[in-house]
Amino acid sequence: MRSSLEKIVGVAAVDERPVRDMWPLGIMEERAGNPSPKVLVVRPAGREQVAEVLRWAAANQVAVTPMGGGSGVCGAIGPAAGEIVLDMGALDRVLEIDETNLTCRCEAGVNGYALERQLNARGLTLGHYPSSLPGTTVGGLIATRSSGQESSRYGSIEDIVVSLAVVLPDGSFAAPRPGPRSAVGPALHQLFIGAEGGLGVVIGAVLRIHRLPESTKGQGYAFKDVHAGLDCMRSVMQAGIRPLVMRLYDAEDAAFNGYDLSAEECALVVATTGITGVAAAEAEAVKSFAKGARGLGEEPWHRWQKHRFDLSAERLQTFLEPAGAYLDTIELASLWTVLPDLHTRVKAAIGVGGLALCHFSHAYEQGCCAYFTFGGSAETESEARAAYGRAWEGAMSAALELGATISHHHGVGQARARWVADELGGWMRVWQAVKGGIDPQGIMNPRALGGRS
Ligand SMILES: Cc1cc2nc3c(=O)[nH]c(=O)nc-3n(C[C@H](O)[C@H](O)[C@H](O)COP(=O)(O)OP(=O)(O)OC[C@H]3O[C@@H](n4cnc5c(N)ncnc54)[C@H](O)[C@@H]3O)c2cc1C
Repeated sequence: MRSSLEKIVGVAAVDERPVRDMWPLGIMEERAGNPSPKVLVVRPAGREQVAEVLRWAAANQVAVTPMGGGSGVCGAIGPAAGEIVLDMGALDRVLEIDETNLTCRCEAGVNGYALERQLNARGLTLGHYPSSLPGTTVGGLIATRSSGQESSRYGSIEDIVVSLAVVLPDGSFAAPRPGPRSAVGPALHQLFIGAEGGLGVVIGAVLRIHRLPESTKGQGYAFKDVHAGLDCMRSVMQAGIRPLVMRLYDAEDAAFNGYDLSAEECALVVATTGITGVAAAEAEAVKSFAKGARGLGEEPWHRWQKHRFDLSAERLQTFLEPAGAYLDTIELASLWTVLPDLHTRVKAAIGVGGLALCHFSHAYEQGCCAYFTFGGSAETESEARAAYGRAWEGAMSAALELGATISHHHGVGQARARWVADELGGWMRVWQAVKGGIDPQGIMNPRALGGRS
């Protein structure tokens, strides 16, 4: 097996090691003495090599999991012994930044943060800022259907992708189609946005970019409770304002993040942006929607900017080092009318271990994402796993019963395998048909969308 792969990509581009992503349960298993098995990791240098590896895998019935930065948090990367991993890191060229049409063409292995810095140097931005940005690749951002801190203004990855270049499991190639939009059939490339490597390999993308805004005005407000804060967020979005950032921290999350509030208060951090006059006028409009809240000035905005990447993979790993420790995040989304109940029920379900936080971000006119963090420390590894499992069970049940989505932006992987069919219902049949049609031998990531195909 190894020598066949070495013939395709070269000896130096194959190695053997355990591979996993940043799924907390995977980290906990490793800590408890159950490490991931060693697998062959293949690093193709271009489209032809990707195609040849897939053809070889199909001929030999070997499962292939594409890998970008490995920063996914759902166990979508968790290859079993005998499978292979396709490390996309060598496809790391930014091919074109078109400053007139505001598009960027790049390969899938380009690091998300490096791309943003290149764009910033030219006065441009992708506007896609997951907290994990430094550890991501463009291909991974696409395959997980990710969403960033500035999504209320620039949209999530599905709004940013104009078109894709993909290699299908039989080694055939689909090139990017013309933008900015097309009615020549459905937008088929969207099938790969969120497919978790289960349909094929994204090797490149054409992305929408933006000019950096002239000015940004950030402010903080203290609301008496979550309801009042959510009402303000909804009013802002429904007035047509598209803030760069808008995040509401419940009392526990605000305290955890060091916002100086009284006991029950929640913190709203909001930044408007654009041409200077527009950013200032929108900031005034936000202020009018925050009537009844206590103005906190610009300090919360500066504090948020300083700490925006604090939730890092390294920090997660460190927190999970001690035996018995558990920690995870669950990002749900629902319509505005459902959010207060979702908040109450999920906080109760995850609160058993001590740490239970929630903030609301990624706002739409119709609703918002509710992002929960929970954690604790148990006497034994099995108690830790049980407490962790109960928190997930409670959060997923609450989401499904209230009609919320079980994932706003982390995806499915192994973490949500048990619940994916409950959310998808009849759409599961559609996914199965697409998967079966494109990947009839089932060689692409067996853990994509929980592996239900
Ligand atoms: C601390 C922390 C904070 C995070 N914050 C956010 C956040 O704010 N928003 C957010 O959306 N996510 C967040 N995440 C999750 C994670 O960073 C994202 O899911 C990210 O999109 C993964 O990118 P990656 O390159 O690391 O993908 P990987 O983890 O390498 O892969 C993820 C999935 O994509 C598939 N894949 C990767 N590359 C390709 C390709 N070229 N073709 C086909 N399939 C491919 C893999 O098979 C796998 O199923 C966070 C993670 C951590 C650890």
